[in-house]
Amino acid sequence: MEYHPGGEDELMRAAGSDGTDLFDQVHRWVNYESMLKECLVGRMAVKPVVLAKENHEKKPLNGILLKSKVPDLPVKEISPSYDWFQTESLVTIVIYTKQKDMDSESVIVDYQDGCFRAEIVVNDYSYLLHTELSHEIQEDITARVTEKTGKVEIILKKKNNVSWKYLGHPLESHNSFTAHREKGLYYRKCKLISKVDVTHDTKLYCLMMPPGTHLQVPIGQHVYLKQTIAGAEIVKPYTPVLESLHSDLREPLHPHNKYIYVIIKIYHTGLFTPHFDCLQIGDYVSLSNPEGNFKKSQLQDLEELFLLAAGTGFTPMVKILNYALANITNLRKVKLMFFNKTEEDILWRNQLEQLADKERRFEVEFILSEPTCEWIGKQGRISLPLLSKFVKRSLENSRVLICICGPAPFTEQGIRLLKDLNFSQEEVHSFTA
Ligand code: FAD
Ligand code: NAD
Repeated sequence: MEYHPGGEDELMRAAGSDGTDLFDQVHRWVNYESMLKECLVGRMAVKPVVLAKENHEKKPLNGILLKSKVPDLPVKEISPSYDWFQTESLVTIVIYTKQKDMDSESVIVDYQDGCFRAEIVVNDYSYLLHTELSHEIQEDITARVTEKTGKVEIILKKKNNVSWKYLGHPLESHNSFTAHREKGLYYRKCKLISKVDVTHDTKLYCLMMPPGTHLQVPIGQHVYLKQTIAGAEIVKPYTPVLESLHSDLREPLHPHNKYIYVIIKIYHTGLFTPHFDCLQIGDYVSLSNPEGNFKKSQLQDLEELFLLAAGTGFTPMVKILNYALANITNLRKVKLMFFNKTEEDILWRNQLEQLADKERRFEVEFILSEPTCEWIGKQGRISLPLLSKFVKRSLENSRVLICICGPAPFTEQGIRLLKDLNFSQEEVHSFTA
């Protein structure tokens, strides 16, 4: 009774009588349809064709929806639901997304000044819990995701071991499930904890998220940084990288859900970057939730990966490169074609060369548009002769992905040239604004 969310009074309403109606009022989803239905009884299906047909008909499979189905169904039918329970020291909020393939990157949690906000990203939609908690909690919040059932558990540590009668007072958009495009970006203040030179005009910055935040930026996605400059709020997108190219090979110095690394080029005549570079260690900058349309699933079963990067267009390639080498078992080859003006502009050149020495599947080629006469490597800008030599399937039907990122004219030209080289739209992913 002590730890029941509704407390003793609520339980006593059904004491000595049939509690079904009361149960249905408050816990209707804790039932066969949403829970037991996810358990299969019987033999393992041996006909994949049946499954394919079900998918085609857009039916939920054992109560769990396949990811691609989300936008096709009425929002009411697919909206996640939540409940909470408590022990003496913990409060656990459980969200049933009914989605397969959820991972910890899909859960963004913020707790500040008594306000709790959890955003669960489900494709182009997100489910929001937003409440002023009834009691104080400690700032280290844990989020756990069960990939197979799409169950998300957010575990809060009570500050005082008292029994909570209710979770909190709902705040704006609490318990809503809406398309991303209808939602404004949510920002939290992050502390600059280090800045290290990468080249003459580019630095690696490490930002620490507030203690009550749990956020991991998915591969290929960007965040927005916001500063107030001369009384106006200025917002620019940046693509987080890793601490270094080798950082997946050892335990990261800083956990990915607490620290964010960005490589930023400072343009002296730019609006945002000169001010950003003036930040001192310990100063704060606002950082948004992640955005972007790259999906990890694009890398699945890949055999050859080509990365075409120009200048800071290298940033999305960092996590893609690391993830692909570490996780894609069929991958035979990763080639990076890195376009820069001069040798001094090449980001992480040593690390790239070391990786190419160590990892036989990885190859890097630097192409300079403004080389000195000592440069013996390739020169020029993106062109058909360069691409046709570099971006070539080694087998006729091999599964290929080409990622391209850089100044807009570079990316646009690259897309046109790849089309001329007969790569399909699905085989090319361009990073644009
Ligand atoms: P701006 O004010 O935009 O100026 C940039 C340069 O252009 C300056 O030299 C300026 O003098 C010149 N300029 C501005 N306006 C004009 C004009 N009208 N005519 C001619 N010249 C002009 N950058 C990174 O460094 N790292 C990243 O990880 C990164 N990720 C990105 C991710 C995305 C999705 C996108 C779209 C961009 C990303 N960028 C990244 C670029 C970044 O968002 C900014 O555009 C960049 O930092 C410049 O911002 P700024 O305000 O300092 O410069
Ligand atoms: P830069 O000016 O130093 O140029 C790097 C190389 O890009 C050049 O050597 C050249 O080979 C090529 N290039 C430049 N202009 C070109 C043109 N008009 N046509 C063909 N090729 C050209 O590059 P930078 O200052 O580092 O700028 C990087 C760009 O990448 C920025 O515009 C930034 O917004 C963009 N970016 C986009 C994302 C994203 O996810 N969309 C991420 C990071 C950076």
